[in-house]
Amino acid sequence: MALVAHRLAGLGTENAFKLGDDIQRCVDRGLDVIRFNLGAPDFRSAPHLNRVAIDHLEAGNSGYCDPAGILSLRQAIRDHIVATRGIDMSPDRIIVTPGAKPPIGYTFQTYVDPGDEVVYPSPGFPIYESWVTFVGATPVPLQLSEDAGFAFTAAELAACLTDKTKLIILCSPSNPTGGVLSKEDLAGIAGVIRERCRPDVRIYADEIYEHILFDGEEHHSIASEPGMAERTVLVSGHSKGFAMTGWRLGWAALPTAEEAAIFKQLNINIVSCVPPFLQEGGRAAYEDPETQETVAEMVRQFEARRDWVVPALNALEGIRCQMPKGAFYIFPNVEGACDRLGIREAHAALPDEARGRATPAGMLQMFLLYRYGVATMDRASFGRIGSEGQHFLRLSIANSMEDIQTGVERIERALSDPDGFHAFVKEEGLWGSS
Ligand code: PLP
Repeated sequence: MALVAHRLAGLGTENAFKLGDDIQRCVDRGLDVIRFNLGAPDFRSAPHLNRVAIDHLEAGNSGYCDPAGILSLRQAIRDHIVATRGIDMSPDRIIVTPGAKPPIGYTFQTYVDPGDEVVYPSPGFPIYESWVTFVGATPVPLQLSEDAGFAFTAAELAACLTDKTKLIILCSPSNPTGGVLSKEDLAGIAGVIRERCRPDVRIYADEIYEHILFDGEEHHSIASEPGMAERTVLVSGHSKGFAMTGWRLGWAALPTAEEAAIFKQLNINIVSCVPPFLQEGGRAAYEDPETQETVAEMVRQFEARRDWVVPALNALEGIRCQMPKGAFYIFPNVEGACDRLGIREAHAALPDEARGRATPAGMLQMFLLYRYGVATMDRASFGRIGSEGQHFLRLSIANSMEDIQTGVERIERALSDPDGFHAFVKEEGLWGSS
């Protein structure tokens, strides 16, 4: 009998957290590291929201509460959904969760059996693929193309659907690409779903970056399309738009109150409830108009950084970079950079086992980190299945402009250092090669 259950073999991870060990090793060696790997705004939660939570804590609001979430927060979320998606629902259909990540697992536990097919964006948030393999479902990665600005067409989705499809995951604005599905894209996608999918097929709409859009764009949701609210698990939260990652506040709006009751039961089984004083701060985020100004200022700063960094990266030989329309990530194609440094040959020369584990972009990622103090994330960190031959890095612009500029200068120097790369592969032995 094995110590750990067999199902654990399928569980993936989120490398953005895992990379912390490598960064620490570099810091311990005296490198100062520019953290382009971070998926959290470099802004802090707004003082007016902190105040609400502190006041509630000091007033003794520190016990268990409704596992579905406090009613006043669920009402505020409902009002937010009405205002931004144009769909009404009773708060019975809304469940508050500790961040926007738990609803991903809840959705798989609720709807997906082994052998069901799950369509999800790739590159995409890695936790989607992790749950697909963990529950023994069949992964159907929908490959997002760089040329289409990392959006996808209704026809591309249609090509992924079969009568075994049970769940379709959408994420807009997207992590890691910053791609955004337009109103027209969503109308086309909804048309395909109406035509091709049984009513029990669920759509998971991950809209955690709904507040972070550039160029004056507005957020659009699949749930607003005709016939979609009754199929969509709509998910968002406070982590990104309100710069509250550590508060662990998220929510899911379910197609029916019965399905919401299952999510509540999963909360009861796993976390019992989200701390009530934090939920009060989260309620104020929606209700206090001051929040909108705070968010708008943060988005302005992300946009200014994007406007600087994309042309700066495009000016580097070997890097090609799309202009993201939302979120706070840049997702450059680094194929040319891998060629300049001889990484593809070095990858091909790795022993079989190491070659299977490593990717050229992953080798570039480690070279940038260990030798130039720039932490990034490689393409394979955002869904490995079917990603062979794609050479991208994700850079988060949740960093000061000064750090972003320093980071780009370091990348420029690294790209002219093929000898340094080859020495790095030999000396570090990260891939068991010599
Ligand atoms: N969904 C996407 C697309 C994300 O990028 C993240 C966080 O990086 C999450 C969900 C999880 O958000 P939270 O920190 O609120 O759990």
